[in-house]
Amino acid sequence: MAENNTAPAPQAAAPRHFIRQIVDQHLADGTWDHVATRFPPEPNGYLHIGHAKSICLNFGLAQEYGGTCNLRFDDTNPTKEEVEYVESIREDVQWLGFRWTNNFFASDYFERLYGFAVRLIEMGKAYVDEQTADEIRRNRGTLTSPGTPSPWRDRPAAESLDLFARMRAGEFEDGRYVLRARIDMAHPNVVLRDPTLYRIRHAHHHRTGDAWCIYPMYDFAHCLSDAIEGITHSICTLEFENNRALYDWVLDTLGFDPRPRQYEFARLNITGTVLSKRRLIQLVREGRVRGWDDPRMPTISGLRRRGYTPEALRDFCERIGVAKADSTVEFALLEHCLREDLNARAPRVIGVLNPLKVVIENYPEGQQEEFDMAYHPEDPGMGSRKVPFSRELWIEREDFMEDPPRKFFRLSPGSEVRLRYAYYVTCTGVVKDDSGEIVELRCSYDPQTRGGWSQDGRKVKGTLHWVSAAHAVPAEVRLYDRLFTTDDPMTVPEGGEFTDNLNPESLAVVQAMLEPGLASVRPGMRCQFERMGYFCADPDSVPGKPVFNRTATLRDTWAKIAQKG
Ligand code: ATP
Ligand code: MG
Repeated sequence: MAENNTAPAPQAAAPRHFIRQIVDQHLADGTWDHVATRFPPEPNGYLHIGHAKSICLNFGLAQEYGGTCNLRFDDTNPTKEEVEYVESIREDVQWLGFRWTNNFFASDYFERLYGFAVRLIEMGKAYVDEQTADEIRRNRGTLTSPGTPSPWRDRPAAESLDLFARMRAGEFEDGRYVLRARIDMAHPNVVLRDPTLYRIRHAHHHRTGDAWCIYPMYDFAHCLSDAIEGITHSICTLEFENNRALYDWVLDTLGFDPRPRQYEFARLNITGTVLSKRRLIQLVREGRVRGWDDPRMPTISGLRRRGYTPEALRDFCERIGVAKADSTVEFALLEHCLREDLNARAPRVIGVLNPLKVVIENYPEGQQEEFDMAYHPEDPGMGSRKVPFSRELWIEREDFMEDPPRKFFRLSPGSEVRLRYAYYVTCTGVVKDDSGEIVELRCSYDPQTRGGWSQDGRKVKGTLHWVSAAHAVPAEVRLYDRLFTTDDPMTVPEGGEFTDNLNPESLAVVQAMLEPGLASVRPGMRCQFERMGYFCADPDSVPGKPVFNRTATLRDTWAKIAQKG
């Protein structure tokens, strides 16, 4: 199973991974003079970060080598596929920053695939079998024993052709017949023991409607779709390694030359989450999350809503590289890529997540002033905005301690701190409610420290963020923790389910106070709340009532993990 390889160091140079090496070789030795790839999702769920790896690889190769990349929906399974998924997949690929050469559907080729199947029957390379699915499974043999040929294996081609046509015409119920390739029932590779090519399925298809009641199997449709599109390098994940022999058999038997070849790479696994559509569907259906785009989901739409940038995801995919061996990548690396991107680009603004009222007793009632705050400390080009200051403010509750330990440099009774960009203030009193909870602080300010600097050289160690209470915008802020409590959610005691590992505290909602400029935000707007993390405006926001998701805290744990190796 998956061994836990160490992910590449944060600054590793773009690796010349094995697929790039194969392509280089093919272009050098004349095997191909161009590169044509495809990304072939089955539209049976939303894309996740694992798919992003495949997208970056396929579209990235096309970009790098000046080739083409098709988006092809592998829609050969009528019962699990939905139009909603098709649309979400298109949106996600484009959001990641890629443009397909063509958008095809495997169902576009149903008529041609049927024709290829007929040709195989005529060649004596396929036959209609009437064993039940169970019998077929039992007669397949095992890794150590050969299979048993079907009694129908040698039926004349004319008979198979007739039955196959009648299967198509809808004469038979589901499961009555299948079309099988006629290869070798004793082949050491079980995949080649007369695999099923077509089955009867009376089901409505999202594109072809009721035109078909037989549907091709993945192994038959996939290689032929690649060949029809003139794909040169057909890249897929390792679980298809054994199927490559069948891929080759179908195309060689039908005489495609030159023809695409399949290359397998290791799928992406990430600590603390699951990357399988089946499992993600379960989380959605059981209401464990708020939907496919819940910001805790590892889906591309979830990461987008959370505030991840396409640049960060592409950077991540480049850094993890492409290898033949399964490995698990630390979630912290993904966050690291995000922080690097947002650190450079996200405007700094003020949000107080857990507000505590401060009254500045010696600041005149009714007075107010404005301070100019830069959007980015290192990038003056991002400009600045004016932020109001007045007698009553909100500060972060955790920035005050009534009985602080040594080395607590923030606010406590009698201590002086800087309110960022504004003044030095000293805490002069604490107001509590009947239950003893602190509800308000009383402070005094030093008018000589305007701008946040004292003229007498007096230093303070703490700097706090704040918003003026009279101007503050209340906002719902959603704070996320990891979705699962364990690094490998799939490991559960016997009889358990991966959902047992869900973190019941993965979402905390707080009522925050924001600076007035954030009253109306465009959903998707990303920023840093100074000292509190990176945030992204949620589509639930309405004018005057913003909702923010915390994308990530500011603390980067990646360097530490990378060091440990
Ligand atoms: P899942 O296991 O989540 O259902 P899938 O492989 O069935 O995924 P497809 O729609 O068939 O999903 O995948 C489209 C492409 O994305 C395939 O080429 C597949 O190999 C690739 N892919 C899927 N999951 C990953 C992953 N975790 N890492 C890298 N590539 C992946
Ligand atoms: Mg699949």
